[in-house]
Amino acid sequence: MTFPLQDVLALLKKEVQEYQVPVVDLIAAQTSDPFKILVATLLSARTKDEVTAAASRRLFARAGTVEELARLTVEELEQLIYPVGFYRNKARFLKQLPMVLQERFFGAIPQDIDALVSLPGVGRKTANLVLAVAFGKAAICVDTHVHRIMNIWGVVKTATPLQTEMALRRILPEQSWAEVNSILVAFGQGTCTPVRPHCDRCVVTSWCPRMGVTPRAVQAAGKRMALRRMEEKKFVSWNVNGIRAAMQKGLLEVLRGFDADIVALQEIKAQPEQLPAPLQHIDGYHAFWNPAQKKGYAGTAVLSKRAPLQVWHGLDEPRFDEEGRVLTLEFADFYFINVYTPNAQPELRRLAFKQDFNQALLAHMDRLARVKSLVLCGDLNVAHKEIDLANPKDNIRNPGFSPQERAWMDRIVEAGYIDTFRKFDASPARYTWWSYRFNARAKNIGWRIDYFIVDRASGDRVVEAAIHDEITGSDHCPVSMVFR
Ligand code: SF4
Repeated sequence: MTFPLQDVLALLKKEVQEYQVPVVDLIAAQTSDPFKILVATLLSARTKDEVTAAASRRLFARAGTVEELARLTVEELEQLIYPVGFYRNKARFLKQLPMVLQERFFGAIPQDIDALVSLPGVGRKTANLVLAVAFGKAAICVDTHVHRIMNIWGVVKTATPLQTEMALRRILPEQSWAEVNSILVAFGQGTCTPVRPHCDRCVVTSWCPRMGVTPRAVQAAGKRMALRRMEEKKFVSWNVNGIRAAMQKGLLEVLRGFDADIVALQEIKAQPEQLPAPLQHIDGYHAFWNPAQKKGYAGTAVLSKRAPLQVWHGLDEPRFDEEGRVLTLEFADFYFINVYTPNAQPELRRLAFKQDFNQALLAHMDRLARVKSLVLCGDLNVAHKEIDLANPKDNIRNPGFSPQERAWMDRIVEAGYIDTFRKFDASPARYTWWSYRFNARAKNIGWRIDYFIVDRASGDRVVEAAIHDEITGSDHCPVSMVFR
């Protein structure tokens, strides 16, 4: 059946009138000033709406015009807009903006996409949103919600927002371009959420093919179901490739968005005393750090809302433990292991070390799984099957896909452990890591090397497992699991 896109958008346009209005539309409803709409749109990238709204209010109280903005220093701008995502970068862009506008556009906000994307910090998404909202022009702003939902509906099969934008330009009549973003942002925040969408109460459900979606468990009435939901715990694992760099790229906002019970971080590349103030104490979480002895290298951390019964650092073997690769937390009814497995290195130079590490890790898992449920997550630095990487044939002898490393994953599965993501999703091209080279992420040339694994007896406790490849900020994306 062809997806009736225009009918569905018309239906959703009515439906989302009851929802919270996306922040940029809200600001547009309060002002028709293109300057304020441009600035608010810039602030809104990778930031929750309520944070953008508050930061915009503070900033516009001091700088409601291009001239007033020019008088603020970068430090003042940082203070005014904190804690929006990438606030340092955005403060620098805002500092440059008045000068560029004066020099090249006589102080006015330009009205075409090429000119807009030439402004500091303005990408195509922001430019399209400004054109549509501030100037009422025919432009399609494809943000993460539009890109994600159009792929879920099977309207497009695209890897990047730009590809989605180009496809929608061909599919949709021009008069509906401007409103697509505000409809789908509201719908994506309220119903078709990135994690566990509310398919059970969605008006689109009878048409939606739900491509790549794990719906929220249907909420049956009754106390037993309510209790069961209360018992559900959300876990997130993310190789942040340097926690300080990730913080600059919106780590705290991503964590706030997940609101997970436990967050496992790998490759933190920092000692606790090197952490900037916002990471020293993260509201609502107990933090456990296991840095490598060598500065700026490897290391793991776990944030937990609930205090664990006890915590172990490492595998009790100095040559592994000096690299800060394993953290184990014990809770009343499960163990939680966060692991950052060594890379086998080019020409498999470190394969023997990795194999020894894997053997020690498996022994640790087996010991704990005999006592109670076991959850292991992290960057295992191995793609298990051909489906788990984009170019299996080219990587057959490379680190991360060598027969020896894959054989260890076979052993894990033979020992009864479950790769939870594959319990829910058997589709190809679901990756968690992309090289920074060759534009690999945009082309989705990736590898699935980050996992949530549970012991055989705990398979029924897993409610959901997901990959969050829409979240950037590292060369890996987060993975998550809901456990009860
Ligand atoms: S049925 Fe589910 S996946 Fe489809 S649009 Fe509705 S909420 Fe999203």
